[in-house]
Amino acid sequence: MARSKIRKSSKSSVMNTGRRVTLNPKLARRSFLKISAATAALTGVAMTTKLTKKAHAAGKTTPYEGSKTVRTICTYCAVGCGIEAEVHNGVWVRQEVAADHPVSRGAHCCKGAGAIDMVTSPKRMKKPMKRVNGKWKAISWDTAMTEITDKLKDIREKNGPDALHFNGSAKVSNEMAYQIRKFAAFWGSNNVDHQARI
Ligand code: SF4
Repeated sequence: MARSKIRKSSKSSVMNTGRRVTLNPKLARRSFLKISAATAALTGVAMTTKLTKKAHAAGKTTPYEGSKTVRTICTYCAVGCGIEAEVHNGVWVRQEVAADHPVSRGAHCCKGAGAIDMVTSPKRMKKPMKRVNGKWKAISWDTAMTEITDKLKDIREKNGPDALHFNGSAKVSNEMAYQIRKFAAFWGSNNVDHQARI
């Protein structure tokens, strides 16, 4: 998704190399970051003063006492940008971009900038959710697994194994990608691909 945004929004970063149109990764990335920053700035202006004040009041600018900085990698996609994670009492409390990281080179994309939300966001999904009459409802893992497997079996019996497509994500690890591929093979279909190719 990020790549298609870059392609649309950054004409100057596109190099025409004869038959194929490719991106200049350096220019494309920088342009994307500038556009992201501009969008963030406009969004910030649009926020109410009340909300901005609340956010500033909750913000803590100095390190937590006794915290340590752990260098890690953003797992949102396969690019692998660097994160400096502040860890306090074993809990990830804050993040900064690893400015000298050879991949991120001083910035994160909008997904990586909020990577800590995977851990701290109150909106983080902790249970399977099912939409019932237009509203999301938390259900148990047993119920979710039973309903999904019943539906899968139903699709397979009525329409055959090729009625299903298995789509991997940039978020999955090598091991998860291997499992998705294996599952598709056991299922009996070659309909397996990756989101970035589609
Ligand atoms: S910050 Fe994370 S999601 Fe964004 S490009 Fe880097 S690795 Fe991918």
